[in-house]
Amino acid sequence: MAKNTYPRCAQCPTRVCENRGGKAGDVPSLEKAPAFCPMKLMPEAYAAALTEYDKPKVKEFARLASVQEFQCYERGPDGLRTKLPRIEETIQFARKCGYKRLGLAHCAGLVYEAGLVAEILENNGFEVVSVQCKTGAVPKERIGVKAEEKIAGPEMWETMCNPIVQAMIINKSKVDMVIMLGLCIGHDTLFIKYCEVPLTVLAVKDRVLGHNPLAALYAGETYYKRLRGKIE
Ligand code: SF4
Repeated sequence: MAKNTYPRCAQCPTRVCENRGGKAGDVPSLEKAPAFCPMKLMPEAYAAALTEYDKPKVKEFARLASVQEFQCYERGPDGLRTKLPRIEETIQFARKCGYKRLGLAHCAGLVYEAGLVAEILENNGFEVVSVQCKTGAVPKERIGVKAEEKIAGPEMWETMCNPIVQAMIINKSKVDMVIMLGLCIGHDTLFIKYCEVPLTVLAVKDRVLGHNPLAALYAGETYYKRLRGKIE
């Protein structure tokens, strides 16, 4: 597919949509936007999105999210500084939305962290419904995993991750919002697909980098240079 025919914001040389330094009310010109800019390729999507924001509940949710974003910074004599880690942001945002009961969908491998998160949320006045990925105790063979594909070894019992039932239990538990913590790639995709309540992510799993996948990019000029190599 020709590279100018689909959105590629990650490679944009101008980012005119940010209109940095512009004054309130100044509408940026699209002249300098690249040909692959979605604002040029799909203008109708922007009108449709604004119609969604006009729905009162969506508008209020979006407004609160932007207020939360604002409150994550403070302006001091040396300029703008960040001030809140994600866990505090999550608590503040849940309070803003008037949420009382939160779900926590976590990986069994992060049960220690899940315990801490639940304790922190409860100490902040929330009720916490937590469900871990192995719930259901279904063996991996049930979804066709072969004996030699089990982490514990071919002879051993291994419970499959069950993000579909995790989502179903969260849906039944009448939580106001669910927080995902460290689900595996693919299992998280299924959880998101089946989850019917507002969802946010506290952390994604990275078994090697302390659940901070971006560390591989920050070390991408040195230890993880192999990632930048082009596959022929
Ligand atoms: S929306 Fe357009 S101008 Fe903004 S980053 Fe994407 S390509 Fe660039």
